Amino acid sequence: MKQGIVLVCLLLLRPAASSGGELFDRFFTGGTFRVDLYHTGTKGEERFTLDRVIREGAWPGHRVNLVDTLNLGEYLLSVTDRATNRLLYSRGFSSVFNEWQTTDEAVAGVYRTFPESVRFPSPARAVRIALARRDRRMEFHEVFSAVIDPADPVQVMRERGRPLFPVVPVIENGPPAVKVDIAVLGDGYAASDMEKYRKDVSRFVEAMFRTHPFRERKKDFNVWRIDVVSDESGIDIPDRNIWRRNALGTRYDTFGSPRYVLTEENRTVRDIASAAPYDFLCILVNDSRYGGGGIYNLYSTAYTNETVPGVEWQMDYVFVHEFGHSFAGLADEYYTSSTGYNDFYLPGVEPWEPNVTAAADRERVKWKALLAPGIPVPTPWEKAAYDSVEAIRGKLDRLAPDYYTKREPLQTRAMEILRTSRYAGKVGVFEGAGYVAQGLYRPSVDCRMFSLSLADFDPVCSEAIERMIDFVSDPGGK
Ligand SMILES: [Zn+2]
Repeated sequence: MKQGIVLVCLLLLRPAASSGGELFDRFFTGGTFRVDLYHTGTKGEERFTLDRVIREGAWPGHRVNLVDTLNLGEYLLSVTDRATNRLLYSRGFSSVFNEWQTTDEAVAGVYRTFPESVRFPSPARAVRIALARRDRRMEFHEVFSAVIDPADPVQVMRERGRPLFPVVPVIENGPPAVKVDIAVLGDGYAASDMEKYRKDVSRFVEAMFRTHPFRERKKDFNVWRIDVVSDESGIDIPDRNIWRRNALGTRYDTFGSPRYVLTEENRTVRDIASAAPYDFLCILVNDSRYGGGGIYNLYSTAYTNETVPGVEWQMDYVFVHEFGHSFAGLADEYYTSSTGYNDFYLPGVEPWEPNVTAAADRERVKWKALLAPGIPVPTPWEKAAYDSVEAIRGKLDRLAPDYYTKREPLQTRAMEILRTSRYAGKVGVFEGAGYVAQGLYRPSVDCRMFSLSLADFDPVCSEAIERMIDFVSDPGGK
């Protein structure tokens, strides 16, 4: 009896990932399970309920890196073998719900429901899936669990729907199991817009692979284009009372922010996306208002129809910036633009995102290894001058026709301050990040996650992106 207990303990302690592809072959069957959930609650309170379990196509993910070692995201999915309690798979993610919890609506005690999904390799026998949420100290606590039995004839939906839209490879470098697979979906593209859609996909994929560190790692990616056709051109703009029959349900005005584009029609997005082997989703929206969004391990969105001459580059900025959120869990480093959030980061609490910190301390800062030798911490920069320019910019009406004319000199001045800053290009600990001017710090004076510009990702963000590429693909292998 005692020996049995010791054996179980050893099995639990043994890191699952180190046992290689044999573990995958032993516990999984090669397909994908998707569990659809309802996520309900208000600020400080949440509950997941099970909607349905669906069998999707072949598992597109890694077959060795099954247990998440990156510690990113607000939530953690874990899949354990029910018989032995052995951890087989885990993955961090964030959700529309956890962002919504910081809005005025949730703070006022309103309850809402958001549909979500988690995906994992199809198990050979019964597994227990669990979802855990971080507390203020970033420790995970379980908030949901369910047993999923592949042998249960009722629980798992087995029929595979006919792919709703065609899938076309845009970049193909190898089998999905050893590559980062991105599926690009279009929303608000009517049948007559499909030529534009194909050009848009090429444009944004090129913009991404022009940006360090994606540029150097292009061979580790596959990109799949899903030719999603909407009934009408454009997406919903609630503040202008514009409603369109767009296939994926994306809309502006998420959380009251005119430029924040998300969709809450999770099931539709997932059903359409399931036609492609994907690790990450990008949604291109065929609309002209500046906007986008990105949630870690969910999807990114970006507008594709800039109509103001001379600022088309903003679309490339948005696409790559938002992908930084959804791909590598990067935080916004800016703090001068308004958002719909309240206390997105709690004061004094160290965020999980790799590129913001509450610890302005040379020894404790999480990017200590990348600090420029001898750089002062916190690192002085021209914050007062930058803030005074941004204060004027902040008063401009972003939706006014003369917005860009008025913004131009301010943009030029702000970029000049960043470019000529004493520690420009160096990794330090710069105050102002994560929507707050004080108490949170970013790794460099400028970055794709800071200014509205085509700045590269700074070394800390780049390293986080590369860690994700290494985890999802197999850079040394096939
Ligand atoms: Zn952002």
